[in-house]
Amino acid sequence: MRTYLVTGGAGFIGSNYIHYMFKKYDNEIRIINVDKLTYAGNLENLKDVEDRENYTFVKADICDAEAINKIFEENDIDRVVHFAAESHVDRSIKNPDVFVKTNVLGTLVMLNAAKAAWELEDGTFKEDKKFLHVSTDEVYGSLEEEGEYFYETTPYDPHSPYSASKASSDMLVKSYMDTYKFPANITNCSNNYGPYQFPEKLIPLIINNALQGKTLPVYGDGKNVRDWLYVEDHAKGIDMVQEKGRLFETYNIGGHNEKQNIEIIHIILDTLQEMLPEGDPRKELVSENLITYVTDRKGHDRRYAIAPDKIKKEVGWVPDTMFAEGIKLTIKWFFENEDWMKNVTSGDYQKYYEEMYK
Ligand code: NAD
Repeated sequence: MRTYLVTGGAGFIGSNYIHYMFKKYDNEIRIINVDKLTYAGNLENLKDVEDRENYTFVKADICDAEAINKIFEENDIDRVVHFAAESHVDRSIKNPDVFVKTNVLGTLVMLNAAKAAWELEDGTFKEDKKFLHVSTDEVYGSLEEEGEYFYETTPYDPHSPYSASKASSDMLVKSYMDTYKFPANITNCSNNYGPYQFPEKLIPLIINNALQGKTLPVYGDGKNVRDWLYVEDHAKGIDMVQEKGRLFETYNIGGHNEKQNIEIIHIILDTLQEMLPEGDPRKELVSENLITYVTDRKGHDRRYAIAPDKIKKEVGWVPDTMFAEGIKLTIKWFFENEDWMKNVTSGDYQKYYEEMYK
C-alpha cells in the first residue's frame, strides 16, 4: 500500500485533495496529513475521513525538522505532496516574515527530511519515491497584454512577499532536483475556488458577505484578471502529474478561465439570485448595490493566465468542471455548510476583516 505524506492537508486545497484521493483510491493508499493548524487549517474540513484506518493526522510545524524527520523515520513514505504554506497575499503584505519562514524554510525542512529518508549510499534514490511541490502562477508576475500566457519557461518575476516566498521555495526544489537528482515535480496552478475555502479569498468572501447584505469590497477598478480553476480539477492534476508526469519537470495547471474580479462578483450575485428559493429573506439582501470599490492592493498584479498545454499534452489532464457549474457547486456547498462558515468567521476573522477593510 502506497503511503502519502500530505502537508497542509487541513487547509483549502489540501483537504479537497485528501477527499479526492480517498474517493479515487479508497483503501489502496494511506495518507498521513501533517498540519500546524494555523488560522487557515481546520480539521472540520476532514470530518468525513478522520475515522478511516488508512488516514492519520499529525499536528506539527513543517519548520520543525525533528518532528518531520520523525514522521519519515516511523513511516515508509512513498509520496510527499507539499501544500503547507502561508497562502494569502494581503497577509504577506502586512507580515512577510512568517511567509519566508513557512514557505521557504518549511520547504527546505521537507526536502531535507525526504532526501535523508530516500537517499541511498551511492547518492541515488530509492525506487518510486516522489515529492510534489504545490506552487502558484503568481511566481511568474503579471501579464499586461491579452493573448499572453504563463508557460513553464516564463521567467519568474514575483511581486508580492507571498509570491516571492513561493518562488524561493520553487527554486529550492529545483536546486535539489538539479544538484541531487532528487525525485520531484513542481506544479504551478492558477487561482482555485470550491468547498472549504477560507473567506478571506475573493469567492467565499463575496458569497458570505452577499448572503448577509454586507458590502462587497472590490480592489481598485475591479478589472484585475485571475484564471480560476475548480479545486477538484487541481487535485486531479496533482495526482496525474505525480503518476504520469516526467520527474524533474514543472507543470502549469489552469483551465483557461480568465475573469475580471468584477465579473466574478456579478456571476456570484446572479447565481445566488438563481439558487435562492422564492421567499428566502436573503434574496432581497443579495444586490449589486453592495459592491464597494476600495483602495487597490499594494503592488496588485494586473493579470494572470496559465497556458496548460504541457500538462494536457504530456499527462492528458483536462479540467472537468466549467466555471458556471463549479460556482454552483461551490455556492451549494456553502448553503449546506452554514455552520462551517459561522465557525471560521467568528473570533480572529472578524478582527482581520475589520483591519483589512476599515
Ligand atoms: P490554505 O491557507 O487554505 O492552507 C494552508 C494549510 O497549511 C493550512 O491547513 C495551514 O494550517 C497549513 N500550514 C501553514 N503553515 C504551516 C506550517 N508551518 N506547518 C504545517 N502546516 C502549516 O492554502 P491553500 O489555498 O489550500 O493553498 C495550498 C497550497 O497551494 C499553498 O502552497 C499555495 O501556495 C498553493 N496554491 C494555492 C492556490 C489558491 O488559489 N489557493 C493556487 C495555487 C497554488
